[in-house]
Amino acid sequence: MQNKRPLQSVDDDHLLQRLAHLVGQSRGSEADIVTHIAEVDERRLYAREACPSMYAYCTQVLHFSEAEAYLRITTGRAAREHPILLEMLADGRLHLSGIAKLAPHLTAENREELLSRACHRSKREIEVLLAELFPRPDVPTVVRKFPERRPSSPPPTAPTEPQLRPGRVEGPPVPAPPPAFLVQPLAPARYKVQFTASAELHEKLERLRSLMRSHVPDGDLATIIEQAVTEKLARVEARRFAQTKNLRKSLKDTDTSARSRYIPAAVRRTVNERDGRRCHYRNEQGRQCSERHALEHHHVHPFGFGGDHRPAELRLLCRAHNRLIAEHDYGRTALARMARSQDRASETRAEMCSGPAQARLAFTP
Ligand SMILES: [Zn+2]
Repeated sequence: MQNKRPLQSVDDDHLLQRLAHLVGQSRGSEADIVTHIAEVDERRLYAREACPSMYAYCTQVLHFSEAEAYLRITTGRAAREHPILLEMLADGRLHLSGIAKLAPHLTAENREELLSRACHRSKREIEVLLAELFPRPDVPTVVRKFPERRPSSPPPTAPTEPQLRPGRVEGPPVPAPPPAFLVQPLAPARYKVQFTASAELHEKLERLRSLMRSHVPDGDLATIIEQAVTEKLARVEARRFAQTKNLRKSLKDTDTSARSRYIPAAVRRTVNERDGRRCHYRNEQGRQCSERHALEHHHVHPFGFGGDHRPAELRLLCRAHNRLIAEHDYGRTALARMARSQDRASETRAEMCSGPAQARLAFTP
């Protein structure tokens, strides 16, 4: 026996009315969500919830898809300058995808005309409108040689994620999947990696393949690339995390007093290893921040108040959380004043910084 559909008994007119009503409600809720996202973003409350960015908060805590996060954050930031966007989103004159396309081009001068022309247009129609109003130069001609597809070969896989580009709106950039590059999980611990290579890269890979023939007799490209990436990663990490094969000074022989703002390499190595090269921040629920990039060394006891460089006195933090704690210690106003004076004295800052992990040391209490 066939299952009864949930709306089977609703008559046609009533069904269409109900759908229109629900869509109207949903648009209103969407505009509310975007308004809240914009305010949380503005107050940087994501940091308090152990996230390094608004994008991370949207995807990791609110569990939006990458595209939903990108569109809502972009719209929220654009609406700070153009609040009319929220009204148009709520009443259905514009959708999130259209706003994300329009946002980088919107100014106070062109707003009225541009938005009226984009009203009730599809995303594709808005792209055509923008190309007409803001023509871009032709893309350079690129010649690529693709292998001929054998009849038995499966068709090329289309990217599953939308090709997003961050709009030029205020705020830190929202990550977008790089174009012409695709990483897809195939099975546990197996990934398909696909990208378009230049002739130079192709030629280098062939040279490497022949040089590594004794180690990789079957010339498997995945094995060769893995070995090359592993070596490069080790070198980059050694530089970034102050690791060397021959440690010049052990922690025991290192001066950790607060004689200068320079944090000795042995201390940085110890802290990086101890904190797992990941932001150490946890919120009240014990959730740890996931950020692993652009980490900074934070002094638990503010350096400016006599804190020293012993590993126990240092934590690895991402920029958002280093700033959150600095705001807590110094207050937002004082921090903004410090930032302005930092901008005026960039050469002094260069002297005070000793590497990527200390790039904003003057913010570090
Ligand atoms: Zn963090």
